[in-house]
Amino acid sequence: MENICRSWFRPRAFYASNGANKLEGKIAIITGGASGIGEAAAHHFAAHGAQMIVIADIQDELGQKVVESIGSHKCSFMHCDVTDEEQVKNLVQSTVQNYGRLDIMFSNAWIFSSSTQTVLELDLAQFDRLFNINVRGMAACVKHAARAMVELNVRGSIVCTASIASSAAGEMNTDYFITKHAVLGLMRSASKQLGVHGIRVNSVSPFAVGTPLLCRYLGKEVEEVEQTYEPYTRLKGVVLKTKHVADAVLFLASQDSELITGHDLVVDDGYHLVY
Ligand code: NAD
Repeated sequence: MENICRSWFRPRAFYASNGANKLEGKIAIITGGASGIGEAAAHHFAAHGAQMIVIADIQDELGQKVVESIGSHKCSFMHCDVTDEEQVKNLVQSTVQNYGRLDIMFSNAWIFSSSTQTVLELDLAQFDRLFNINVRGMAACVKHAARAMVELNVRGSIVCTASIASSAAGEMNTDYFITKHAVLGLMRSASKQLGVHGIRVNSVSPFAVGTPLLCRYLGKEVEEVEQTYEPYTRLKGVVLKTKHVADAVLFLASQDSELITGHDLVVDDGYHLVY
């Protein structure tokens, strides 16, 4: 009986990832890390002991600012346009060369529709542009991160940013809704295929967060964006911030989610319960 209890009650070390250093010693890449959710995730990863976070983005100046605020001993920037597969390949290869391995890929870069449109007005040139970044770019990141992990025998974690638009029908922004549905297809297929290598693939699906892109799109300040979407949420007294999405990303990136793969973690303040 004593032995059974002992094996059931694990020592404190077993729960080590519940402490502050959930990512101790990990090497991570964050695409779209110069701004918004990616930037918040970079700070979270650093606070949780990641050894190196490589910010990959097309906004060089903003990316360098994130590096300065975290510290160049823990964070670096690399210009990478995810629509260019060679740049993505180079991003992964130089991360492995410089830091020895790759444990986490947070594939998060995106653009939003530049105009609202139903399927009747669908602008296919705009559709191609969105697809190129939101889907093709994301697929390139998953592909090259997974290849490096398999080659180095790393039981890594890949997290993609999907959206509540991944599982809902859109009244407009048809192109955006299509791209975010595709992210779930990528995440689920990759998780099925990569499980044999011990690599986990998951996604986070946020509801509206007042990030720079959404603020610009709506022509509103962060607080105004939050007020606009507040009626659609369920949990009163709390407002969805980038920090909440970064919490979910951290969970999926860390060993806290050791047995979770192929999962879309919705971070939406209860939106899906109502709509
Ligand atoms: P953001 O604009 O603040 O950050 C996105 C980053 O992606 C920017 O730094 C941008 O420079 C970068 N980027 C754009 N094109 C790129 C390219 N070709 N190559 C490399 N980097 C590129 O936006 P955010 O709101 O933080 O969005 C992050 C993710 O969250 C996106 O995948 C988005 O779909 C998702 N999301 C956001 C919301 C929201 O309300 N903000 C809701 C649901 C899902």
